[in-house]
Amino acid sequence: MSNKPDVAIVGYGPTGATLANLLGQYGLQVLVIEREAQIYDLPRAVHFDDEIMRIFQSAGIADELLQKVRVNPGMRFVDPDGKLLLDWPRPAGIGPQGWNTSYRFHQPDLERILRKSIENMETVTTLCGHKVTELKQTDEYVTLTVERSDGVGDPIEFEADYVVGCDGARSLVRSVIGSNMEDFGFHEKWLVVDVLLTRPRPDLGDYSIQHCDPERSATYVRGPENRRRWEISLTQQDQELDFSDRDVIWGLIDRWITPRDAELERHAVYEFRSVVAKKWRHGRLLLAGDAAHQMPPFMGQGLCAGTRDAANLAWKLAACIKDGTPPSLLDSYESERRPHVSQFVQMSMRLGGLINASKTQEALAAAFPQADGSARLASLYPPLGPGLGPKGQEVESRLSSQLILSTDEKLDDLVGFGPALLLDDQAQTIDTNAFDGYVLLASEEKVVQDYLAEQQAIALLIRPDRYIFGKATSQNDVTRLISEWRQAMH
Ligand SMILES: Cc1cc2nc3c(=O)[nH]c(=O)nc-3n(C[C@H](O)[C@H](O)[C@H](O)COP(=O)(O)OP(=O)(O)OC[C@H]3O[C@@H](n4cnc5c(N)ncnc54)[C@H](O)[C@@H]3O)c2cc1C
Repeated sequence: MSNKPDVAIVGYGPTGATLANLLGQYGLQVLVIEREAQIYDLPRAVHFDDEIMRIFQSAGIADELLQKVRVNPGMRFVDPDGKLLLDWPRPAGIGPQGWNTSYRFHQPDLERILRKSIENMETVTTLCGHKVTELKQTDEYVTLTVERSDGVGDPIEFEADYVVGCDGARSLVRSVIGSNMEDFGFHEKWLVVDVLLTRPRPDLGDYSIQHCDPERSATYVRGPENRRRWEISLTQQDQELDFSDRDVIWGLIDRWITPRDAELERHAVYEFRSVVAKKWRHGRLLLAGDAAHQMPPFMGQGLCAGTRDAANLAWKLAACIKDGTPPSLLDSYESERRPHVSQFVQMSMRLGGLINASKTQEALAAAFPQADGSARLASLYPPLGPGLGPKGQEVESRLSSQLILSTDEKLDDLVGFGPALLLDDQAQTIDTNAFDGYVLLASEEKVVQDYLAEQQAIALLIRPDRYIFGKATSQNDVTRLISEWRQAMH
């Protein structure tokens, strides 16, 4: 290990492991410090979306992960009589990201695959069973004090150029940054029960079901293989129950399943919250994942948001550390990510409100004004907040599509870790020497032509995290776009 890593990551949960993978792909020297000796082996997240699979593709783990996941057909909201209130179907085929739009998975499987990939990276070192106890930064570096979690031995000190706190909800790094949380106001206790089916129960179905029952709301989730989950909203009265008694747990889910068909894997009571840190960076200290935001799991987007943080931050850290881009580039991390994740936090709360309050059509209408019993919900793909890129363009800061080329290759696999420029016939005579990235011409690939036409552009510049930096509609515009990109990077 390098004596002075470029980046130290505090916390080796899914966010830290994804960030370590991406930074390792950029060839940075990375040290990951994790308090626990082993992976947390019980499931929390069960869903991720197509954008996240695309990030895992960049991290080099998509093929292996694909063996472990299940395509999710969608989510249905039903009333206490089972009547459909609202449908959130997911298309069965491959979508614009080059992947299915929604996947079910088992979080420990993902974490194992992320960690296995890191084992092969020479520039990434992991230190599990160690906790960071203190952080001090100067203008040049950060000093981390690290102790063994079992208390044996003396503290060790490391110096790193940057420290990213992927250290979860009770983040030490967040407290050193001095960031409070903006609280959007959702505080509810839910019981999460994971079971393993011991005999087939096809009647439970493959859709996730939100049981909108004011008596006691509940969510059913169909996991991969024989895994099934129920999340139960706890009333004030329920909170007095003895959850260490397995009969109490079975009693709360016996409407759907009994010990004849399944065994309990685990259960836990969570307080679901909706908070976003007010400050994501202070000098050389940054936050990502649950350390920066937490949301109720009704959309299955908490881990997804942490993965997006990692993708947004990795290339910016690599640019600052390897290419000499001024650290002011890192200011765009919070300005882009905070408004983006806040939309998911608020949407998750709205779903929670719907699940809790929709016994009647009136309550349903209040929670979702367009809901009339046959309403459909669409997935959320908001733009990033203000950050890089030319202002005032509709495409700017939106996620690009991942084109699948005539060779069946996925565009990101060709682009690698830099930016990409897509050019149509009118733009392809332009000198692109000033652009240090992957260039793809519409004359070589019809999908490029079609995509540019759809975006009403003759050129699109795509950032390394696959968001659109900007578009050009005339030849002069292309030169301007390239020069704006160069300015943003230097
Ligand atoms: C019931 C439930 C269901 C969910 N469902 C979904 C879902 O379907 N989809 C989805 O996207 N998200 C879901 N989530 C959210 C998701 O699980 C979390 O957002 C995600 O696990 C957060 O990952 P993280 O790496 O940011 O933090 P964590 O997983 O909390 O990891 C933080 C790590 O930092 C370590 N650490 C902390 N302090 C220190 C220190 N001082 N030194 C060293 N190490 C330290 C901890 O030991 C821990 O391993 C769900 C959450 C719950 C509770």
